[in-house]
Amino acid sequence: MGPGGDRRHSGGCQCGAVRFAVATLGRASICHCRMCQKAFGSIGAPLVTAHGLTWTRGAPRHYQSSNKVRRGFCADCGTPLTYEYEGGIEVAIGAFDKAAEIAPVIQLGIESKLPWADGLAGLPTRSQAEAAKVAGFYASVVPRQHPDHDTAEWPPAKDEQP
Ligand SMILES: [Zn+2]
Repeated sequence: MGPGGDRRHSGGCQCGAVRFAVATLGRASICHCRMCQKAFGSIGAPLVTAHGLTWTRGAPRHYQSSNKVRRGFCADCGTPLTYEYEGGIEVAIGAFDKAAEIAPVIQLGIESKLPWADGLAGLPTRSQAEAAKVAGFYASVVPRQHPDHDTAEWPPAKDEQP
């Protein structure tokens, strides 16, 4: 997409079977409620309101997590993708190609916040010695994850690189 071209917010699941585009983003949040913890298998759910969402490849499967809400996910790789209710649809921030540009502006469901969630930023990181021990493993990893941009075809032919 060149200058002045497509300004959509694109994204998709880890395996690339499901891809989407959003015309306009609304409020970005992180929900700490217990249902979002389960649905994301994580500390909670970073989500952004999506206006003008289209599925550009495949489509999610859904789990009706309550009488009011269903959650979309990739049936092939399991990536959480949506939170859908009568008021609209929210999309998982981490699924966007440019997730770094979508910062939550509010926390929700804080009554269920995990007691250690607020301490994450203060945790130590790997020492150089520890990092050196695992460097070989990471150097040997060949990712199969879909790249952070739209592709004409996926997975690529065997000789092509993503
Ligand atoms: Zn997938």
